[in-house]
Amino acid sequence: MQIGLKPPEGAVVLFNGRDVSNWHQRNGEPATWTVEDEVMTVAKGDAITAETFQDAYIHLEFRTPDMPEATGQAKGNSGVYVQGRYEIQVLDSYGWEVPGLGDCGAIYNQYAPLVNACKPAMEWQSYDIIFRAARVDGAGKVVEPARMTVLQNGLVIQNNAVLQGPTGGPVDENEGQPGPLLLQDHGDAVQYRNVWLVHLPEKGSDAYEPH
Ligand code: MG
Repeated sequence: MQIGLKPPEGAVVLFNGRDVSNWHQRNGEPATWTVEDEVMTVAKGDAITAETFQDAYIHLEFRTPDMPEATGQAKGNSGVYVQGRYEIQVLDSYGWEVPGLGDCGAIYNQYAPLVNACKPAMEWQSYDIIFRAARVDGAGKVVEPARMTVLQNGLVIQNNAVLQGPTGGPVDENEGQPGPLLLQDHGDAVQYRNVWLVHLPEKGSDAYEPH
């Protein structure tokens, strides 16, 4: 399973487990999220990494709070914004037979998850995200849209989804430019841990090396 997956060699550890000193809010102020036992908990304001990236493999773990009275978008809402532009929804969608465009694992309002891979509230879950950044021409026009493959708890929920531009509330619309990881404050005490990424080269070598 993906829970507890160790950062491989060369990974950039985005959450150090002790504090959020290398995360900030949208206004540039330091992030306010609390940290305890190597877990960060959503507080006022989104949390944004200082690190920015293009193509990347991103791993993180999250846990939604127990909110039995809440429903729909008010139940354990947060979100993982890749490059600060494309939100993979975090929500307590456990048990929904047919998850929709706003449910956990959806690329918000663009692609519902292929299957509902959610665990119940209070259980740790993982996202493994393989992201290919948008390619742009010299004028900044997108010539190849960004794409994402996402595994939730080891199950494929997004299969090379071709992104239709930024989702709602991006940090900017500068597709093709490096961007940060943003974890959303949607007012619910969602928790995160074990957050890291591996920068990926834009392509492999095209030289043939005989052996
Ligand atoms: Mg959200």
